[in-house]
Amino acid sequence: MIRSGRADTMRIGVLALQGDFALHARALEKCGVEAVEVRKPVELDEVDGLIMPGGESTTLLKLIDAWDFVPALEKFNSAGKPIFGTCAGLILLAREVESPKQLSLGLIDVTVVRNAYGRQRESFEASGTAKLGPDPSQLEMVFIRAPRIKRVGPGVQVLAEHGGEPVMARQDRVLVATFHPELTDSTKVHRYFCDLVERSRAGA
Ligand code: GLN
Repeated sequence: MIRSGRADTMRIGVLALQGDFALHARALEKCGVEAVEVRKPVELDEVDGLIMPGGESTTLLKLIDAWDFVPALEKFNSAGKPIFGTCAGLILLAREVESPKQLSLGLIDVTVVRNAYGRQRESFEASGTAKLGPDPSQLEMVFIRAPRIKRVGPGVQVLAEHGGEPVMARQDRVLVATFHPELTDSTKVHRYFCDLVERSRAGA
């Protein structure tokens, strides 16, 4: 059977409306995956997974609405294509947002509290425990005006913790982190997401 090159190449989109999308694209490329900056809903048709980066969630929400991204993102999720939200991206994907309350896509059953670390600790680096493979490992985490995951629904699996609290979680094909994995040298988290996308492409 003759196949076009496109069908065989895994491509992961990075929502490029606002925030630090460029570093996510670089991390994906380090994992050997083609990264595509997504600026219009129609561009979602060209990718197998999507990263929603950190930034400012209220601004991102306005841009997503202005560009009519909501139905396209819901369709993307219903098609079983994985989505990874970091920091503001997590805030957009959460079921419930507090401090203040804000609309969100509700694609993962968690409640998040925005800017939850207070002024003194607004931005910091820390080490946490992650279980991204068979054995737990230590992971460097960069938090920037980060939200806290206050509640995790029954279908949600916690993948990493810092100070005894969940900082990375997954519900089926939706992955979220309160920290910024693109700001460290490790590509562990991006590799985990790439594997998820690879498996979803294979229909697993
Ligand atoms: N504090 C931001 C918000 O609430 C998120 C910060 C980030 O993405 N680094 O939208």
